[in-house]
Amino acid sequence: MQTLQIKDLHVAVKDEDTQKEKEILTGVNLTVHTGEVHAIMGPNGTGKSTLSETIMGNPHYHVTQGDIILNGASLLTQSVDQRARAGLFLAMQYPAEIKGITNMAFLRAAINARRPADQPLAISSFLAQLDQALALLNMKSDLAERYLNEGFSGGERKRNEILQLLMIKPTFAILDELDSGLDIDALQVVSKGVNHMQGPDFGTLMITHYKRILKYIQPDQVHVMMGGRIVKTGDAALADRLEDEGYAGLRDELGIDV
Ligand code: ADP
Ligand code: MG
Ligand code: MG
Repeated sequence: MQTLQIKDLHVAVKDEDTQKEKEILTGVNLTVHTGEVHAIMGPNGTGKSTLSETIMGNPHYHVTQGDIILNGASLLTQSVDQRARAGLFLAMQYPAEIKGITNMAFLRAAINARRPADQPLAISSFLAQLDQALALLNMKSDLAERYLNEGFSGGERKRNEILQLLMIKPTFAILDELDSGLDIDALQVVSKGVNHMQGPDFGTLMITHYKRILKYIQPDQVHVMMGGRIVKTGDAALADRLEDEGYAGLRDELGIDV
């Protein structure tokens, strides 16, 4: 079993207007083991994407206190690249276009980066795996030859994130609003991709606004984030309650005003 642990994490970013550091995360605690699915829900602007980007090592986000620990070792001094090699994967809320790099070239580079330098994945194995993953996600094979996300629709970008997930096979995946902007068919397809990964050697942190994806990808734990920290943890019933009451019910219960 592998463990990703977020300990009392405080994160600040520089405000572009005032040029002052402002604290976004105010003490996040969270432990995810392989074999588990965790969902994080929370209102807009509460720091969910900040948490995702910080776990992955985006240098824009400054850890001012606390730690991010993979199997007992701190990741704080590690680059995005090193964290990816260690088994972390982030499906971004807004996947970027990268001109000049085909999807296929990107995938091969990402897969080989996690293998010993003298044992790159044979092209025939790569292509066989790619065909399987494309079929599972109902993706057209020409997407693999196109530049990364260039001209992709919102739904295609999200599907493409899951194609990367299936091909790169990380240990821990953070999926930031994978469900946003997806119609019900696309939602079922990306959920199928995530569920295909599930098993004893894979853990997920799924960030979402809505309960509907949790019908397809069942969480072991649901966390609610408000004001930059996790204020409540429960099982799937907590997501039902949020859908019924909104965040207001929880604010009242916990006496918080963020
Ligand atoms: P969520 O994903 O929960 O909607 P975010 O993490 O995107 O929340 O944002 C939390 C807060 O941090 C917001 O007030 C947002 O404006 C601010 N923030 C996030 N990223 C940046 C950034 N790169 N630069 C400046 N402020 C940011
Ligand atoms: Mg948001
Ligand atoms: Mg976000």
